[in-house]
Amino acid sequence: MEKITTSQFKLAKIGPMNLAQRIEQYLPEQVLELVKTTSKQADKLGGKLYLVGGVVRDLLLGYPNFDLDLVVEGDAVKLAQQIAGIGQSKLVVHPRFGTAKLSYGNFILDMATARSESYAKSGALPTVAPGTLNNDLSRRDFSINAMAISLAPGNYGELIDPYQGRSDLEQRLIRILHPKSFSDDATRILRAIRYEQRLQFGLETQTARLLKQDIPRLDTISGDRIRHELELIFREKHPEHAIKRLGELRALQRLSPSFKGNGWIAEKFDRARCLNKPNQLPPLYFCLLIYQLSERENEQFIRHLNVPKKLSQALHDTLHLKARLSLLDKPCIKASEIYYLLHEYDPLAIQANAIASESSTVQSHLQLFLTKLRYVKTLLNGEELKRLGISSGPEMGKTLQILHKAKLDGEIKDKGDEEKLALSIRAIKEED
Ligand code: ATP
Repeated sequence: MEKITTSQFKLAKIGPMNLAQRIEQYLPEQVLELVKTTSKQADKLGGKLYLVGGVVRDLLLGYPNFDLDLVVEGDAVKLAQQIAGIGQSKLVVHPRFGTAKLSYGNFILDMATARSESYAKSGALPTVAPGTLNNDLSRRDFSINAMAISLAPGNYGELIDPYQGRSDLEQRLIRILHPKSFSDDATRILRAIRYEQRLQFGLETQTARLLKQDIPRLDTISGDRIRHELELIFREKHPEHAIKRLGELRALQRLSPSFKGNGWIAEKFDRARCLNKPNQLPPLYFCLLIYQLSERENEQFIRHLNVPKKLSQALHDTLHLKARLSLLDKPCIKASEIYYLLHEYDPLAIQANAIASESSTVQSHLQLFLTKLRYVKTLLNGEELKRLGISSGPEMGKTLQILHKAKLDGEIKDKGDEEKLALSIRAIKEED
């Protein structure tokens, strides 16, 4: 079946609110089958199944998105358990949250029981209870994300759009659902800017006013949630646009006062994309984001965002190495010297410095380490060295280090060279 492409697509031409045909064109056949089976099963259980959130927005825009979020008016966990028996699927359920994840090869169906939410206090996580589809849509962030498409056999394809999301899509607007939205949950400030920049939309007038007014509320959000939203920004194609905009709004500075989000970031993020695969980019962007901070500010940022150990090590290493880059800024430096200066740093920190350093000499030394030196290994192992008469313990360690250094510097090449050098080290030891 022919798929919709963005250029073929005109939002204004959707016409009637039944999207049955569009679903058939949009979803891959395998997913469509699965969705229909799930819907029939929901019907048998007396429930109703809906496609919700980002996938509905993107289906209307004609953008590909196969992260299928399904809401069930009924019991999502029970439904998922029944569906899991069909085909080769992997099921993970969270009965406490009424959610289930079904994976079929490359496709994932996220199923959730429709729920209502209320906020006891600004910035806190909401109190959740089972509810209707309308309850579920009313807890969402923006009108363009608060639409659903019915998959129930009786009204398959019907668009449910209580907040005029489709009209906002046509007018290219990001609009909150109620005036307390940002004060209930200030992560929506970061989300609004992410969508604004991704879709090249504008903020609706009242949304823009309240967003600016509620920026200080970002201080009420837990570090984990802020970090999650930053990670989502870093998965965008051009995260520097959102970072710049958040900098202009002075929202970025709530995360660390010295963040700027200026042209420097844009240039470095762009270089990062040229040098790395997409899945390596988010942690690298983090290292570049903190590059202009002092070590103390970096420390505070890591603590504030409760950064996990692996990433926090990379962030520490980034600034530690930055302070030592002058040691690498000389054209005649031995490869072994480069190696021993860098080998204890996290490779992400080295990559970040290779991108951020203004010196081409430093850049090429860092790249040499990343692409070559860190993989250099001696060919002789401990057993073979023992056979050459080198005893295990400190002597072995020292010999291996000398061999490794000679190999890095190109003084020895093959196993024969290594044996000769090892024997001469032993002979010198014996003379001593
Ligand atoms: P995309 O980034 O393409 O929108 P997505 O739809 O999967 O992907 P998520 O961040 O996973 O985006 O959120 C899923 C849905 O959950 C959103 O469409 C939105 O309706 C809702 N949502 C997520 N976070 C919030 C929030 N803080 N407040 C209200 N609704 C939210």
